[in-house]
Amino acid sequence: MANTIKFEIVTPDQLILSEEVDYVGVPGVQGQFGVLSNHIPFLSALAIGSLYYRKDGSVRYVFVSGGFAEVSPDSLTILAESAEKVEDIDLTRAKKAKERAEERLARQKDKIDYTRAEVALRRAIQRISAKEKAT
Ligand code: ATP
Repeated sequence: MANTIKFEIVTPDQLILSEEVDYVGVPGVQGQFGVLSNHIPFLSALAIGSLYYRKDGSVRYVFVSGGFAEVSPDSLTILAESAEKVEDIDLTRAKKAKERAEERLARQKDKIDYTRAEVALRRAIQRISAKEKAT
C-alpha cells in the first residue's frame, strides 16, 4: 500500500471530500500542522483558514471554518462547521460578506455584535485568500 492517507472533510450538510492523498497542511488553532501517513493520533481544533492537500503531484485548497481535525496513522477527518473547495467559493458573496462585516465593525455596537462581525470578517477574508492562492 502506498504511503497515502484517507482524507475526509465533513460538514453538518454534506461530505465535502473523501480521497486518498499524500499530504495535508491544516490550519489548527495553535498554528498550521502537516499530516503524512503514520502520524501519531492527534486531535486539534481548527482555525478559520484554508487547508491544502497534495495528491498526484498537485496541490488543492479548501476553506474551513470551525470544528476539529482528527488524525490517526492512516486517516485525517475534518469535521467543520463550513468548508468549501476553492472552486465552490463564491468570490462575490465573500466580498459582500466582507463589506457587511466591516460596516458592522465600524458601527461598533455591543460586544457580542462586534465579536460576531469580527469572526464573519475573518471568514470572508480567508475565503477570498483561499481563492487567490489557487489562481
Ligand atoms: P454569508 O454571510 O455570505 O452567508 P458566512 O461566513 O456567514 O457568509 P457561513 O456561516 O460560514 O457563511 O456558511 C453558511 C453556508 O454558506 C455554508 O454552507 C457555507 O459553505 C456557505 N458559504 C458561505 N459563504 C460562501 C461563499 N462565499 N461561497 C460558497 N459558499 C459559501
